[in-house]
Amino acid sequence: MSKNIFEKINEIAKELKPGVVEFTQKLIQTPSISGEEGPLTELLIIEMEKLGYDETYRDDQGNIFGIVNGTEDGPTIMYNSHMDHVSPGDPANWEGYDPYGGEIDVCEIDNQEKTAKEMVECIHGRAASDVKAGEAAQVYAGAVLLKLREMGYGFKGRFMFQGCVQEEPAEMVGMKHLIDKTLPAKGWTYDAMVSSEATSLKLYLGHRGRVEMLATVYGRTSHGSAPWLGINSIYKAMPLIAKIKDELYPSLPADPDVGQASISLNIIECSPGALSIVPDKCMLSLDRRLIPGETVESAVKQIQDIIDEISAQDPEFNADVKVKSALETSYTGVQYDAEKIMPSWKTPKDHAFTLAAAEALKEIGQEVKYGYWDFGTDGSKTAGIDRKPTIGYSPMQEQYAHTPYDKVRTDYIEKAVAGNAAIFLKVTEAGPEAFEKLVW
Ligand SMILES: [Zn+2]
Repeated sequence: MSKNIFEKINEIAKELKPGVVEFTQKLIQTPSISGEEGPLTELLIIEMEKLGYDETYRDDQGNIFGIVNGTEDGPTIMYNSHMDHVSPGDPANWEGYDPYGGEIDVCEIDNQEKTAKEMVECIHGRAASDVKAGEAAQVYAGAVLLKLREMGYGFKGRFMFQGCVQEEPAEMVGMKHLIDKTLPAKGWTYDAMVSSEATSLKLYLGHRGRVEMLATVYGRTSHGSAPWLGINSIYKAMPLIAKIKDELYPSLPADPDVGQASISLNIIECSPGALSIVPDKCMLSLDRRLIPGETVESAVKQIQDIIDEISAQDPEFNADVKVKSALETSYTGVQYDAEKIMPSWKTPKDHAFTLAAAEALKEIGQEVKYGYWDFGTDGSKTAGIDRKPTIGYSPMQEQYAHTPYDKVRTDYIEKAVAGNAAIFLKVTEAGPEAFEKLVW
């Protein structure tokens, strides 16, 4: 790598700002609800081709890739953005902005630490903060590298932008497909991942995991007028609910970084569900948040243990528990029956990859701060399952994601273009310890 390569980055990011801002607007103006990302992928591929990417590719599930090759061999850093977003909800809540308008104005927005409001230029609309501005910043970080290469600077490795389908349903169907099927089919691998989920220009290093469980308590129907003839499954579920709330929940562990493990009973359904029939099935949907060290198996076993305990005392008590799943279909028609599981993960602050990313931000004059997400990301695949170094770095602020105040600061977008390029150049220069597997 040429010596003063970092001096040029901020200058190039500044030149590219009008382009990346306009591109962010276009992304917002192109709706891409989960399963309907097709038109957005066209926009991304055309932009990467226009910027001079070495290769673009779309897989059978509809995930897309953009490659910028270094001048020397080296590690592949995957820059991950999901292409889908959640519904805008009621447009009446959008304070006069069109959710798909991509409007620009100077407005009041939180500072980085959320301690004060500032008046700065912002882009408004659904997915501005989750994750279209981060996506644009990653695509343009590739453009910074291309400009540097054109100017004669050398650097190692391969920059791989990767737009992923169907992140929002939280089953990692897009991410699992593209990593486990597409990369091997293409003969590609990856060594680490940078996520564009909202981080307010900080380095985010992990989050809790999640598993959705369904506990079913069984009974026997009878006429509603003669309940003594049946076994009411709702009444039978009461000791199970009480033990989950009063015994299991308070006993769950915490992690100093990603926070408290939790369990919450969020849906109760019963069947047959008519007023004249004592129900023979009561279904409890449980939202369980995991911390590193906890597994899906251990979370399911905790519920099974309570079921066994109640069964031992009440021969009439009959119940089971399983992980929920959902059938997901991509815009290209690829289907998965996906389990509702997202593992927890964290990349240590003193991991060589994190240290190199922090060095990179310092090189271009950005203050280094750390954080952890409250919500889940596709890092559950790269770090949680594959155990590859994974960090988040992006211009958006977490508190605006999924809200009708969805917006992003354009000053942060410019900084994220520079920061993403700097991170690539620094981590690809780091030794093999930067790509050591995560352990916890
Ligand atoms: Zn997201």
